[in-house]
Amino acid sequence: MIVLGLESSCDDTAAAIVRHTSGAGGVVLSSVVVGQTDLHAAFGGVVPEIAARAHAEKLDLCVEQALEKAALTLADIDAIAVTAGPGLIGGVLSGVMCAKGLSAATGKPLYGVNHLAGHALTPRLTDNVAYPYLMLLVSGGHCQFLLVHSADRFERLGGTIDDAPGEAFDKVARLISLPQPGGPAIEKAAVDGDPKRFALPRPLLDRPDCDMSFSGLKTAVLRARDKVIAEKGGLTVQDQADLAAGFQATVVDVLIEKTRRAMAIYMAHAPSEPALCVAGGVAANTAIRHGLETVSDENTARFIAPPLALCTDNAAMIAYAAAEQSSLRDPDDLTLSARPRWPLDTNQPSMLGSGK
Ligand code: ATP
Ligand code: FE
Repeated sequence: MIVLGLESSCDDTAAAIVRHTSGAGGVVLSSVVVGQTDLHAAFGGVVPEIAARAHAEKLDLCVEQALEKAALTLADIDAIAVTAGPGLIGGVLSGVMCAKGLSAATGKPLYGVNHLAGHALTPRLTDNVAYPYLMLLVSGGHCQFLLVHSADRFERLGGTIDDAPGEAFDKVARLISLPQPGGPAIEKAAVDGDPKRFALPRPLLDRPDCDMSFSGLKTAVLRARDKVIAEKGGLTVQDQADLAAGFQATVVDVLIEKTRRAMAIYMAHAPSEPALCVAGGVAANTAIRHGLETVSDENTARFIAPPLALCTDNAAMIAYAAAEQSSLRDPDDLTLSARPRWPLDTNQPSMLGSGK
């Protein structure tokens, strides 16, 4: 089947067309992503009202471009998929309204997709990974371990209890006067830094579960920075590099140790083709990738990191998720609503109980 997907849950407006036959794997016929960084730059963060308005203005254009790039018309599309949550409600609503309009006008079935399911199913789209697999979703807004049992069954093993790592990279970059986005800036600065110069805390490592915390680490970097400034009157390039290296090494240590624990839970399920997958913008970080690869090697599991354009927000993952889910559930109707919150794991309380 050929699915047109729409995504507008944060600050990227996206449309994509994906072909899927059966089982794992799909072909991305087109994928258009229009960012909004410029619109929000002056405000130091995403402004929900501005984002929603921009999505409403750009969605039609994205759909047109996606059809044009795939050399298809709406008549060739078998289903319309849209992110129905979680995310900024105005943006999600813009996408849902657009998808409903397309579905009503063409009579094609409509599928509301969970944004996190889109991320979590991307390794199926790109690498034919077999169920069940372990997914670390690590981005600017999310950080969680998921056991992916099927296209509509996800088990959350743990995750951050406060900031997501991407958010921490961005905030720490601001603290030590590095540019945004903070992830790439810190990774670059860290190359020349001494990760051992500053002793930074590794929160929750003493707890045996898969939960993580990154906000205390950010405060520790702030204290270390202020101490240097008090002693020397400012930060040198070397101080910045050492703080960046210390922070990055700490995030890597925490992520890797918690991945080991999640992997142990996963391997106890005796998967036939074990795989550790990662998605989200933070997956671009080389040190994090290497660390995750080490854990997958220790378990003789495949390590899958989809190309970055499919790891960050995009609509191909939404189209693909709907294609796989279409064999498991009925389409949605025009009463489909936008959900600001939408936990992937509907059994979370019992899972947390057994996971801790
Ligand atoms: P979400 O998708 O959860 O709503 P988002 O859109 O902010 O959040 P992504 O676009 O997936 O997230 O990723 C952006 C984040 O990834 C930013 O916080 C950025 O700093 C971080 N990032 C990008 N490259 C790197 C890198 N090389 N190392 C560490 N972090 C990185
Ligand atoms: Fe996302």
